[in-house]
Amino acid sequence: MNKIEHIGIAVQNLETSNLLFEKLLGVPHYKIEEVASEGVRTSFFRAGPNKIELLETTSENGPIAKFLAKKGEGVHHIAFAVDDIVAEIDRLKSEGFLVLNDEPKKGADNKLVAFLHPKTSNGVLVELCQEIEE
Ligand code: ZN
Repeated sequence: MNKIEHIGIAVQNLETSNLLFEKLLGVPHYKIEEVASEGVRTSFFRAGPNKIELLETTSENGPIAKFLAKKGEGVHHIAFAVDDIVAEIDRLKSEGFLVLNDEPKKGADNKLVAFLHPKTSNGVLVELCQEIEE
């Protein structure tokens, strides 16, 4: 894995949290993007070399709705940048990690993504992401 690509934070209300994180980080978000297949609306911030993704649910039964019901707002996942997501999925599976989607899928911010179940990574939901070449 190359580096932390972003940290994902689950929020109840994207507009409210956009204002909060704008104050916190001192910069406005640079994009809002809905990922209908995941039932989320996201916004992205840059803080120096790092990125923060805020996630709001658009679906009553989506993963963010479930997370908020169980744990409330807060850090939801850590995303790592990888060069070859298919190879990385295979490597992590062979190491015993539970990969939630064997096939990479299209995520927010022009990325192919895959998730590791938190139960095999000390409670941390891990996202792998590979930039989609234009
Ligand atoms: Zn993410």
